Amino acid sequence: MASELLQKRLYEEFGREQVLTAKEELACYSYDSGIYTLFHYFTPDAAVLAKSVDDVVKTLAVARELKVPVIPRGGGTGQAGGAIAPTGGILLDLSAWKAIEQLTPEDYQAFVRPGVTLDELNKALAPYGLYLPPDPSSGSACTIGGMVANNTAGQRSLKYGAMDRFVMALEVVLPTGEVVTVGGKQARVIKSVSGLDLKTGLFIGSEGILGVITGIRVKVAPVPPARAGILFLSSDRKAIPALIRKLYEAKVVFSACEFVLVQPSAEIAVARNLPDTPLPSPLEMVLLMEFEGNPSGVAWELDTARKIVAGFKGTYSIAENKEDMPRLWLLLDEAEGGVMSSRPGAKRVPGGEDIVVPPSLLIEALEGIQQLVGIAGVSCVNFGHAVFGNIHTGLLLKADDTEEMKRVETLIADIHTLAIALEGSTTGEHGTGLVRSPLMTQEHGPAAEIMKRVKNLFDPDNILNPGKILPIDRPGRSAEEKTC
Ligand SMILES: Cc1cc2nc3c(=O)[nH]c(=O)nc-3n(C[C@H](O)[C@H](O)[C@H](O)COP(=O)(O)OP(=O)(O)OC[C@H]3O[C@@H](n4cnc5c(N)ncnc54)[C@H](O)[C@@H]3O)c2cc1C
Repeated sequence: MASELLQKRLYEEFGREQVLTAKEELACYSYDSGIYTLFHYFTPDAAVLAKSVDDVVKTLAVARELKVPVIPRGGGTGQAGGAIAPTGGILLDLSAWKAIEQLTPEDYQAFVRPGVTLDELNKALAPYGLYLPPDPSSGSACTIGGMVANNTAGQRSLKYGAMDRFVMALEVVLPTGEVVTVGGKQARVIKSVSGLDLKTGLFIGSEGILGVITGIRVKVAPVPPARAGILFLSSDRKAIPALIRKLYEAKVVFSACEFVLVQPSAEIAVARNLPDTPLPSPLEMVLLMEFEGNPSGVAWELDTARKIVAGFKGTYSIAENKEDMPRLWLLLDEAEGGVMSSRPGAKRVPGGEDIVVPPSLLIEALEGIQQLVGIAGVSCVNFGHAVFGNIHTGLLLKADDTEEMKRVETLIADIHTLAIALEGSTTGEHGTGLVRSPLMTQEHGPAAEIMKRVKNLFDPDNILNPGKILPIDRPGRSAEEKTC
């Protein structure tokens, strides 16, 4: 059998220790952090635990020989089905390859191997007062390799941008087995426009379909000395885009601007979760605005924002300093938790829905989603990054109700269609993966065809992560194969 031959070849190359083939072990690779893997169960034929460039090169050589897929995987915190194996093959687990090989604070840089997590890197940088700013809220598990592959953004990308702003060079193993460094073979610089920018234009955000990222040189930044914020509890959600616009006009620069939508059915639950906070009636949206930088700049931003917020309907709570900010973040989380408990008997299923619309259409998009969610007969918590118009929809589901789950699959497709109809995009930061690959032509038109040509140039046999970003015709395995 093909799968037995594959396992035999991998044992020959790696020995038994680095290769997993037991059903129970492979079941651990059947999911990521998104909802898609609740509907579909896929396992690889084998997993290789890679800890060197040579391991990656050898894995790709076996894959080319036997014409089987290779699926790179970091922490598995992605939410778009990017790190799962819809057509079997070799799961290339890079999460144990953790070396921080260079830390050069005098040059504001680090060179790491792909399995280092964000928290591990930031812990190593902390004694120098430095950190890597993109923060996808999954830092304890997400790897730097996965962050590059997904071009991770997150809460503070408003001020600092996504990973592409911080990646200076990448070592990549191509599907052919060639090892290349993009961004300068030896350069250790934090600025360069030399040559075609292959890292930003091709590999960053390529979700493992063009190459396996084996080394990452990042630029790091000083930890900002001051931070402050306002939690605004709005009784008029429609006014939120105008509030943000006013803050922009006043030249206030946020480091984060997060929202949680509170629908009428959730108000009581949210109030229960925020017992010591003066709440307006009605309570329609919770908005957390954070400012960080030097102390006098932050004090000015806070003061300016406070005066503007006071002109809008609602109540607010202020954190004057860094030490008090976790309280506001906790209140935001508690508000989200309140909305989550608004459908008795249902569970919040990690979703991964990540649509983004023009900022002025945030409220239209939220109303559209609420309508679709109502039609599907379920409930949800909508939260996200307000300034970008980036909405995460966390569904509140009864996952053992098969009829409900069928409606939910349609609902997810409808949410994506809504985004495109509102001149938005199907994903602001979680990536295309398997979930959104069927929508690429709808979203990008003829440019989707160019993406296929680029993929074909690097990987004519479609070995690397097939089905992600660009759809495949072959169906995956059936859910009946689920054994664990
Ligand atoms: C609670 C929670 C909140 C989140 N919030 C955000 C957010 O705000 N913003 C955001 O951007 N994301 C967010 N995410 C998604 C996710 O954490 C990030 O995208 C993260 O960077 C993925 O890293 P990972 O190591 O887990 O990658 P994985 O999930 O393992 O893989 C993700 C993709 O990258 C590919 N890949 C992984 N490693 C490599 C490699 N070395 N070479 C080539 N390809 C590779 C995989 O094939 C897959 O396509 C969130 C996730 C969770 C669980």
